[in-house]
Amino acid sequence: MTERCAALLKALQALLGDAAVLVPCGPDDPTFVRQQTDWRGRYKGHALAIVRPNSTQELAATVSLCAQFGVSIVAQGGHTGLVGGGVPDASGEQIVLSLQRLNRILSIDTINLSMTVQAGCLLSTVQEAADAAGLLFPLSLASEGSCTIGGNLATNAGGTQVLRYGTARELCLGLEAVTAQGEVWPQLKSLRKDNTGYDLRDLLIGSEGTLAIITAASLRLFPKPNSRLAALIACDTIEQALELLANARATLDASLTGFEIMHRYPVELTLKHHPDQAVAASQLIASNPATTRPNQVPEWIVLLDAASPAALEHLQARVEALLEQAIQTGVVHHVCVSQTQTQYKAMWALREAIPLSEKAEAQMVKHDVGVPTSQIAAFINLAHAKLTATFPSCRIVCFGHLGDGNLHYNVQAPPEITGFDFLAKHEHDVNQIVYDITQQLGGTISAEHGIGQLRKDELGQRQSSVSTNWMRAIKKALDPMNTLNPGRLVP
Ligand SMILES: Cc1cc2nc3c(=O)[nH]c(=O)nc-3n(C[C@H](O)[C@H](O)[C@H](O)COP(=O)(O)OP(=O)(O)OC[C@H]3O[C@@H](n4cnc5c(N)ncnc54)[C@H](O)[C@@H]3O)c2cc1C
Repeated sequence: MTERCAALLKALQALLGDAAVLVPCGPDDPTFVRQQTDWRGRYKGHALAIVRPNSTQELAATVSLCAQFGVSIVAQGGHTGLVGGGVPDASGEQIVLSLQRLNRILSIDTINLSMTVQAGCLLSTVQEAADAAGLLFPLSLASEGSCTIGGNLATNAGGTQVLRYGTARELCLGLEAVTAQGEVWPQLKSLRKDNTGYDLRDLLIGSEGTLAIITAASLRLFPKPNSRLAALIACDTIEQALELLANARATLDASLTGFEIMHRYPVELTLKHHPDQAVAASQLIASNPATTRPNQVPEWIVLLDAASPAALEHLQARVEALLEQAIQTGVVHHVCVSQTQTQYKAMWALREAIPLSEKAEAQMVKHDVGVPTSQIAAFINLAHAKLTATFPSCRIVCFGHLGDGNLHYNVQAPPEITGFDFLAKHEHDVNQIVYDITQQLGGTISAEHGIGQLRKDELGQRQSSVSTNWMRAIKKALDPMNTLNPGRLVP
């Protein structure tokens, strides 16, 4: 360890106490292995220490000391990020700054429909606190029991309710953050309207720990719906699923809260690896009235989510009328509408088990693309044709947030090749195919997961040089010593 790093550790221990400054006891220290490796097991780093301040002031003093000693910082919330943004580099000279002790709900204002929370609160804790106050915080991700609200804002997370409520950015009213120099930036306002120049809050949202450390946030709350239901809907083609989306938007309007899509293959993987999470898929398969293909997973399954201030019977009648008409006009094949809370949860369990099921099957080249919903069918058809022509028998895991034009479009190796070999040899070519098509259709290479390490080079190649120059200028202005998450996000 360099003298500089040793001196910083001593200063941090004096500032925060030994218990808040964890130093690895050997290369296999389990705490460090977990916090130095990303969720996919793709990136592994080596940290100087994990530092766990207990207040904004302690965190600001930590950042200030790191700046003085010229040691860089990687902020970490729940460590569920999917682009390697929260993993330290291999130098052994970076501090992992954990937000997990900043986990308090600070206040709830039921008249203003807002709540103020520390950044290390788990997303599920924020949802539960809103619920206990009779309100709704709608951000919802499969990782909500582990990810933090600070991480959600730093990555501008999306999830399953974006169609109705927007991304993390649209749910944030104000922020408190610590600058690269260790100053506190106090903008914890709870205003719907504040038109006072550059939107610095929006600059920090989605900045992935490269411009400042988010320490607290003021969040938008919503009235809790009186009724909620889900439906699993079997379609033969993606075009039919899109026609249903248009009809659902027109007839359900604000009551349409989610519209997810699952291709046959990821559902088969869930039946194979997590059958307990696939009960709703089995029920949909069993409810198929046709005799021509019994016991088969439908080609496409839509998961429709709806909520309303009206009574459940009223919402059910609206959704059932929509689906009845879709069956009669041949837009959809067959459907299951949830009748109980247990069935509702089982439908979402199926969708949320897909990331775990695909991970259990094989390594893959992952994508989180976004295109206008009008271009989704073109994307799926073009990408499938080009990938299968180039890599015969590759397996495509396609699912995601159809209502937002956001697909998780992951490519697994043919069964006879190991995932790591496929990634090593073909990741670049697979990415070129998928991202060229995305770009031709006016899309984005990252709809919700962010850039991190995984997509930084690709971003540099595909965005305009003006965008890259502006990003670099902003980074240099706010973090001139490049202390905050260096080498991530900014091409
Ligand atoms: C099973 C699973 C399902 C998922 N589903 C979705 C989904 O539907 N939609 C979606 O958008 N994402 C999804 N994700 C990805 C992930 O959960 C989100 O990106 C989440 O917002 C990350 O939060 P975190 O607290 O875990 O952040 P971390 O992983 O700890 O950090 C992510 C990035 O933010 C930075 N960061 C963290 N906290 C702060 C802070 N307080 N201040 C400044 N920078 C900070 C880190 O340095 C890093 O660059 C999923 C992940 C998993 C494992």
